Amino acid sequence: MRTLTAPLPQDAAPDLDPQRDTARTVMIDGLLQRGFPLMMFPRELEREFQFAGLPARRAHILKSGFISLLIFNVFLVADYLMLPDVFNLALTLRLLVFTPIALLFLLTFQQGRVRVLADASPLVLESIAMVSGLSAAAVLAFILASSNSPLAYLYHIGFMVVITYGNIVQRMRFWYAVAFSLALITLHVGGVYALPSFPERMVLPLVSMVLASAAFTLTANYALENDERRRFLLTERERGLIRSLTQTQVRLRELSRVDELTGLYNRRHFEASMQTLWQRVSFGRIPMAILMIDVDHFKKFNDHYGHPAGDACLRQVCQVLKQTLSGQGVIVARYGGEEFIAAIPNLDEAATLALAEQVRANVERCQILHERSSTSSVVTVSLGLAWCEARPEMKVEHLLALADGALYDAKHQGRNRVCSQST
Ligand code: GH3
Ligand code: MG
Ligand code: MG
Repeated sequence: MRTLTAPLPQDAAPDLDPQRDTARTVMIDGLLQRGFPLMMFPRELEREFQFAGLPARRAHILKSGFISLLIFNVFLVADYLMLPDVFNLALTLRLLVFTPIALLFLLTFQQGRVRVLADASPLVLESIAMVSGLSAAAVLAFILASSNSPLAYLYHIGFMVVITYGNIVQRMRFWYAVAFSLALITLHVGGVYALPSFPERMVLPLVSMVLASAAFTLTANYALENDERRRFLLTERERGLIRSLTQTQVRLRELSRVDELTGLYNRRHFEASMQTLWQRVSFGRIPMAILMIDVDHFKKFNDHYGHPAGDACLRQVCQVLKQTLSGQGVIVARYGGEEFIAAIPNLDEAATLALAEQVRANVERCQILHERSSTSSVVTVSLGLAWCEARPEMKVEHLLALADGALYDAKHQGRNRVCSQST
């Protein structure tokens, strides 16, 4: 038996789960309505949000990292003017220690060669942003602790700059920003008490300035993240809408080509698929058969047992057809009332004939009682088979007409049989 080179038409079943989609839409709508004051989504959605924003976060941390490093070194001017006694130390720490390490890190991060950095998870990414800020604050604290300058206490203003860096420039995720701010406030307050020359009356103004800058920048950070999360939810809601439209479209398409009673394809779909199939087989000169199947004395069956019993009988016959004919590329359809049709590619004449005979025998084997049939005591079918080796110059309509003729022969030769014609 020859096999087709290209796959025959099959039905695409898109991977869609309407129930899950609906639950998700309800959750998203709820979040958009109620808000999310704790800056946290339910577990699964939170994960999606974090990972969806990852590439943008990565690019932002890198870009602002380079700019902040430059500004960090510009502060050497302030070191020179405020703490001249430790300027050499500041120069060493800022230019020779912090900058090379930070540069090396940023460049490695940028090139993405080190896997841990290239595949950094949201947690790792936020931790990187936080560690960079804490390191800058540690440098600041160390320089400050080493100076005896009378202006040293004013150097504490530097903590406000670092807080702004973490909360606004790096725009750490809110809860990281909170932890970062608390760490810097602790460092600042610790520094205030550790510096013997800190003027008493400057404690409150300076501490409150640092606290206020932490509070303001955290408020801005919260608002920024809130906007980002809301945008994410709106995008996800839109995606859900598109998904559900796709589902409806798939369903409608399915309904338009499937026969409701039997679940088989309808005649319209059969004819459309047949054209595509015929193009392939005729181009490849592949064997092709059309099998027409008609239930014998079905009017009498209906009249005697009633329409619902007739429907059940048709469903049973169609079950046999599905089971017997389900093969590579075979298209089975309900052609009309109690008439079915199958397009069977790729089988030689003898094999198709055997298959048709199998259908006949399997229907008979169902033993559906038919007391009014003059052919048998059970429901039977007549089959007309037309077989050919498809060629581009042939028309499929010719094959269909041959199958119809063969069915007519089967009926007239006494029913419950297969008749065939070939060309
Ligand atoms: P033959 O052996 O020559 O095929 O005779 P037949 O009675 O089967 O053929 P005929 O064309 O005279 O009658 C077909 C009957 O099929 C008529 C119609 O009531 C019945 N029929 C068509 N569609 C349906 C259906 O969906 N459900 C039911 N229950 N009956 C149907
Ligand atoms: Mg009939
Ligand atoms: Mg008929």
